[in-house]
Amino acid sequence: MRFEFATATRIIFGEGTAATLPDLARSFGTRRLVVTGASPERTESLVATLSADTFRVAGEPTAESIREGARFAKDAGCDVVISIGGGSVIDTGKAIAAIATNGGEPLEFLEIVGKGRAITVPPLPFIAVPTTAGTGSEVTRNAVLGSTEYGVKASLRSPLMLPRVAVVDPELTYGLPPEVTAFTGLDALTQLIEPYVSIRANPLVDAICVDGIQRVAGALRRAYHNGADRDARHDMALASLFGGLALANSGLGVVHGFAAPLGGQWKAPHGALCAALLPYGMAANVAGLRARAPQHPALERYSAIARLLTGRSDASAEDGIEWVRALSEELSIPALRAWGVTDADLPGVAEKAAKASSMQANPLPLTQEELIAVVGAAL
Ligand SMILES: [Zn+2]
Repeated sequence: MRFEFATATRIIFGEGTAATLPDLARSFGTRRLVVTGASPERTESLVATLSADTFRVAGEPTAESIREGARFAKDAGCDVVISIGGGSVIDTGKAIAAIATNGGEPLEFLEIVGKGRAITVPPLPFIAVPTTAGTGSEVTRNAVLGSTEYGVKASLRSPLMLPRVAVVDPELTYGLPPEVTAFTGLDALTQLIEPYVSIRANPLVDAICVDGIQRVAGALRRAYHNGADRDARHDMALASLFGGLALANSGLGVVHGFAAPLGGQWKAPHGALCAALLPYGMAANVAGLRARAPQHPALERYSAIARLLTGRSDASAEDGIEWVRALSEELSIPALRAWGVTDADLPGVAEKAAKASSMQANPLPLTQEELIAVVGAAL
C-alpha cells in the first residue's frame, strides 16, 4: 500500500482559541487585511482586536471581489490576510492572498473553465478563522469561484494556497441560525462520506472520516434544534475540520460533482445543494455498485457509514441512505426546485456534472441516465 497525506496548515482547535488571533497575526506582520462577510456582527469584537484594514464580501467569491481585494492588499502593503467568516469568506481571502502576489486576472487561474494558469509565487500568509461548521475550507488548497460566463463553479487550486494557520474556535458558531447550521452541517457530512468511499480513499483519511461521521450523527440534530448546545457545536466544528482534511486528500464524488454546475447557475448556498443531493447521490452509487461491481470495497463502506449513522450493528447501506433522507426532512432541507431548477435543466446539469473535478473521485462512473435520476430525485 502507498498513500500520501498532506497538510501544511497549523491547526489550532478549541473553545476560546480565537483570543490568540492578535498574537498570531503579529507573528506575520503589522499590516493586516481582514476579510469578513456582509453581516459580521457576530465577529465584530474579534475583528476589533486585530487593528486591521477590513474588506467586506457579500456572498460567494467572484473574480471582481478577489481582484478588488488583491489590489487593496497590494496597495496597502499588507503582510498577512485573515479571513473570519464562512466558507465563502475563507475562499475569498485565500484567493486574495494568492492573486496579491501572483498578479493577473483571477479567472486565468481557474481549472476546467479557465486557462489553468499556475500559482507560482507563494501567496501572502493567510490565516483562516471559520465561523460556520461545514466547508472545512480552512485546511484546503482551493478557492471555489463562480464563473457567470460558463455557469459553473471552478477552483483556483495550488498547494501553495493552503492556509498557514487555521484557528477553529467552536464558540464562533454558537450564534449560527438553524438554517445555516443545517446547510453547512450536511455539507460537512457529505465531505466525510464522499472521501470515505472515493477511489482515492486511504487509511489515514478513513480514520478521520469514521470519527467525523460519528460526530455528525450525534451532534447535527442537536445543534440544529438548540444552537446553544456547546457539546454539539464542538463536535460539528471538529467534523467540519475533519471533512476539509479528508476532501483535500481523497477528493469528493457525485454530490459535489453536481454542486459545481448547480451553484454556478443558481443562487443557492453550496451546503443547501449538497444537502438536497446527498441521499440520492448515495443511493445512485449503492445501486450502481450492486449492479455493476458487487465486490467493490466501497459497497462495504456504505454499510459501515450506515452503522455509524444509525448506531445499529445490523444496518444496511440502504438504512444509511434512509437515515440521511429522514435527517434532511427533519432539518427542512429545501428541494432543488426551491432554488429555481426545473425539469428542463436536468440533462444540461448532468452533462456538466460528469465533467466536474469532484466527479473524478466517485467510486464508480455513473451513466448520463443515472446522473439525471440523481438530480431529478433531488428536484
Ligand atoms: Zn461541500
